[in-house]
Amino acid sequence: MVHAPARPPAGAPPVRINLYSDTQTRPGPAMKEAMMRAEVGDEQHGDDPTVHALCDRMAALMGKEAAIYLPSGTMCNVIAILTHCGKGDEVVAHETSHILHSEGGTHAALTGVQILPLKGERGQFSADDVRAVIRPKTRYAPPQRLLEVEQTANIGGGTVWPLAQLNAVAKVAHEQGWSTHMDGARLMNACVAAGISAKEMVAQYDSVWLDFTKGLGAPLGAVLCGTDAFIGQAWRWKQRLGGSMRQAGICAAACLYALDHNVERLAEDHANAKALARGLRQIEGVVVEEPDTNLVFFDIKGTGLTVEALQARLALQGIAVSGLGGRVRACTHLDVSAPMIEEAVAAIREAIGR
Ligand SMILES: *Cc1c(COP(=O)(O)O)cnc(C)c1O
Repeated sequence: MVHAPARPPAGAPPVRINLYSDTQTRPGPAMKEAMMRAEVGDEQHGDDPTVHALCDRMAALMGKEAAIYLPSGTMCNVIAILTHCGKGDEVVAHETSHILHSEGGTHAALTGVQILPLKGERGQFSADDVRAVIRPKTRYAPPQRLLEVEQTANIGGGTVWPLAQLNAVAKVAHEQGWSTHMDGARLMNACVAAGISAKEMVAQYDSVWLDFTKGLGAPLGAVLCGTDAFIGQAWRWKQRLGGSMRQAGICAAACLYALDHNVERLAEDHANAKALARGLRQIEGVVVEEPDTNLVFFDIKGTGLTVEALQARLALQGIAVSGLGGRVRACTHLDVSAPMIEEAVAAIREAIGR
């Protein structure tokens, strides 16, 4: 039996304060209006003008030659790995990475790569950590082909890799003849928090993608960017995996709207996350990691309450949080306001104190 994520207990009111994930935003009236007005065509056939506009805009934003629109971030990672690597190749990535933990074993099932997990604080590793796992190029060792990083690092705590460190690990990879791939699910959060343009942030990465459903507020879609040759091959995999779409412009329009309206405002989510961390730190037994961006991780082992018990108590107040890597995770996003943060802190204090 494969379980879906936990549902609120029976009798729980509707969720009013949704800190479960930044994926849970609902498209607002202006975004829906943009979707309704979208010019559309057959995307699979290369005829959807709104998808073309989105891909052109993303390639320019990332400073890459080309881009491809895909249904999800997971498909971006899968297709990037299929395009960079062959079966039996090795991908070097952090031990907390999404490709290891949250893609249903797809790299064993579909891409056939093996993933070498690196340790390191806050979802990050150093150039020395990469140097330490370089294998001899013999017939015995798996061919190392790709270095992968997450910006921001999700289970790492929504942390922002410093630019110098991103560049340093990419340099080691390129010296070895490996390619570099950035899982940029929340890349714009990192760019806004660090005050660095996306183009500069990803300059040393051969491929990079951005999720439009993580805090940017679109209902679906992610865009993968790289060279013309890379995106050409990525298109073959998109077709093979059934990721080619039809009038996808109706969703691409939401992504274009998000680029225009929902990027700069990520700073508000980061401020709300910091306020949440400050409030939670006042609660006895709670250990809070300082948030870099919109993800607040906290440990409640010191309170004697389990993550599931806290979730159940909060659900009765119409508040949702998630559990990840043994800690509680609360995400801020465009459907979470500063007053909701205050209310959430009070409810969490009350739930723990009971
Ligand atoms: C959410 C997420 C993904 C996958 O994106 P989906 O759109 O949910 O498929 C990949 N990597 C990271 C770091 C994520 O947070």
